[in-house]
Amino acid sequence: MEFGPPGRRAQPEYPFWWLQSDDLWEVEGAEGAEKRQGHADPKLSELRRVNAKGGFLQEVYDLLTVQPELVVAAARQLLDDHFPPSLHEDLAEAVHLALRRGFVSQGPARDPEFRDAVLNAYAHRCAVCDFDGSLGDRSVGLEAAHVQWFAFGGPSTVANGLGLCALHHKLFDLGVLGISTARELLISSRVAGSAAVAHLTALRGRPLRPRTGFPEIGDAFIAWHAAQVFKAPAL
Ligand SMILES: [Zn+2]
Repeated sequence: MEFGPPGRRAQPEYPFWWLQSDDLWEVEGAEGAEKRQGHADPKLSELRRVNAKGGFLQEVYDLLTVQPELVVAAARQLLDDHFPPSLHEDLAEAVHLALRRGFVSQGPARDPEFRDAVLNAYAHRCAVCDFDGSLGDRSVGLEAAHVQWFAFGGPSTVANGLGLCALHHKLFDLGVLGISTARELLISSRVAGSAAVAHLTALRGRPLRPRTGFPEIGDAFIAWHAAQVFKAPAL
């Protein structure tokens, strides 16, 4: 519910049941569970009623126990394939995987010029709050966000980029912040916290545009973020 696409009901019973067909997972104690009408899998309420238990097959469990580095490798692969780097540590923490220390993504190499190009286009400021920190001649606390996530085919171009501070980058990737078709800042109505709401409400409607002469965020990328990330409705 926190990290997945908005507007869909979380249905953990599907992977709980269907992972069995990947030969990695088994479910025990579900023999007496009533199936969903017209389907081969049991109802969620029935899985709970019979107290079905799921887990790795013994051989998989033993392998992961003997080679814990496989857990880390598999987690990294899943994170790289499905989520932006700004969320990797949060996800690992949320599922109690101790990946923080020394956690380095080994995903596909990203265009090293992307950050510089995007921060230049956004005048080395956060597009949301104008934060413009630097140390020496290097921006600090500023990042180049992909509007359509790199893991989902979003290109590393200025038209798919947004210069953001670390806080607003995180909130953008979590769908707390969004972009309207008029390229103005949207705030999710689902965000809570009185100081946070006051902070974000004051920023609502800010134009999200690069400096003159640089490409604006592409319509297709805005549409992707709206459908896949932003937690509608907007305030
Ligand atoms: Zn900011």
